[in-house]
Amino acid sequence: MSNVLNSSHIYCPYCGESLEILVDGSAGNHSYIEDCQVCCAPIEITVAMDETGEIVEILAQTDSE
Ligand SMILES: [Zn+2]
Repeated sequence: MSNVLNSSHIYCPYCGESLEILVDGSAGNHSYIEDCQVCCAPIEITVAMDETGEIVEILAQTDSE
């Protein structure tokens, strides 16, 4: 099991700024909330991975209710 943090880029759904995030490569598919580094809004980040820990997709959405 690797415990690698992968650096990746997303765009804030609120202000549109490009943000660098660290994704836990050992966590598999998961989602979490991270505050935008620019406008401080809560971004819901959803990470999809395959079995090898390769990141397939990262979605950045507004915090759903
Ligand atoms: Zn923002």
